[in-house]
Amino acid sequence: MKKALGIYVHIPFCVKKCGYCDFCSVADFSLIPEYITRLCADIREAGEKHGADCRVDTVYFGGGTPTCAGTRLIDALDAIRAGFELDEDAEISLEANPATADLELLKALRGAGFNRLSVGIQSADDGELKKLGRIHSFSDAVRTVAEGRAAGFSDVGGDMMLGIPDQTPESMARTVRAFAALGLDHVSAYMLKIEPDTPFGRNVPDGLPDEEQTAELYLNAASLLRGLGYERYEISNFAKPGFECRHNMKYWSLGDYLGFGPTAHSCFGGRRTSVEGGVAEYAAGRAYVKDRGPCGGADEYIMLALRTSGGVDLRVMEERYGLRFKPNAVISELEKRGFISVSDKITLSDEGVLLSNSVITELTEAFEPAKEAGK
Ligand code: SF4
Repeated sequence: MKKALGIYVHIPFCVKKCGYCDFCSVADFSLIPEYITRLCADIREAGEKHGADCRVDTVYFGGGTPTCAGTRLIDALDAIRAGFELDEDAEISLEANPATADLELLKALRGAGFNRLSVGIQSADDGELKKLGRIHSFSDAVRTVAEGRAAGFSDVGGDMMLGIPDQTPESMARTVRAFAALGLDHVSAYMLKIEPDTPFGRNVPDGLPDEEQTAELYLNAASLLRGLGYERYEISNFAKPGFECRHNMKYWSLGDYLGFGPTAHSCFGGRRTSVEGGVAEYAAGRAYVKDRGPCGGADEYIMLALRTSGGVDLRVMEERYGLRFKPNAVISELEKRGFISVSDKITLSDEGVLLSNSVITELTEAFEPAKEAGK
């Protein structure tokens, strides 16, 4: 039987760099034709190597701003179809920036097979969008969502940001309500992180909420979203039932996926690799693949599974890794204080999410070899 595979395609082009962003992207659109040609060649080559053993059930075009490449994206999707068996009900996601997509483009992409649209909205407050350096207004985003629906996308989500300079609990709540009023099926709520090699890192903006205020924003957002019918299925991801992103779930459940384009990671056949090199190097065929060692070990499983509402499955720990749970005093305290819940699975509460790094460390130390435990 062919194994299920996810494919990530990185489209590293943006009209302008947002102040906080350290993703791999450039504003030189003259590279797009050469870039897409290289991407298609790499996808076809991977198809020759692995296409006979895999069927693709999820595809994700991310960036960057994929919609900057317009209908050329269809060439890359066609290369996937040519190299691999693509499931009829495959989830095929497309990230879109409101200022770079119109109805005509969205119709063409929907017609080519894209079926899930994720719009980078970030906030319903134009002042906050400006502070982030976004190139669009909230009304642009409203139009993109409406055009996505009109183009036939029945699964439309939006990203929002928490911890924007001068964001208040009230402005955050207005954004959540505005997202729900748009009828979004999926909401990703990311906490703003100041990365060193960004305009924000070099010149930290005024008005950033402190750690406590950001934590409060997260807890309020999670509770508001839940009240509006969006369940948290991963630390930063909320969805109406049935609209969880199947592709992203592969990352957190250690599924097999191949990534194409600079900085894209793959986890395939137990090895993790990444594509190294800048956008121009990649387009010119000078990027290379770096081996990053094995993937799928017990610590990695704990770290990724704990992010999800499914949590760390104690049976998986025992059957796959030969490790049995041995709660200690710290774990009991975390449970008593409501940060984690322990049954046949270990999951984080909303409050526990804020402590997730420490919980992961504690949990990795709370397992012992099953044989030893059974002595
Ligand atoms: S649109 Fe997205 S990828 Fe592009 S610069 Fe802004 S945050 Fe980064």
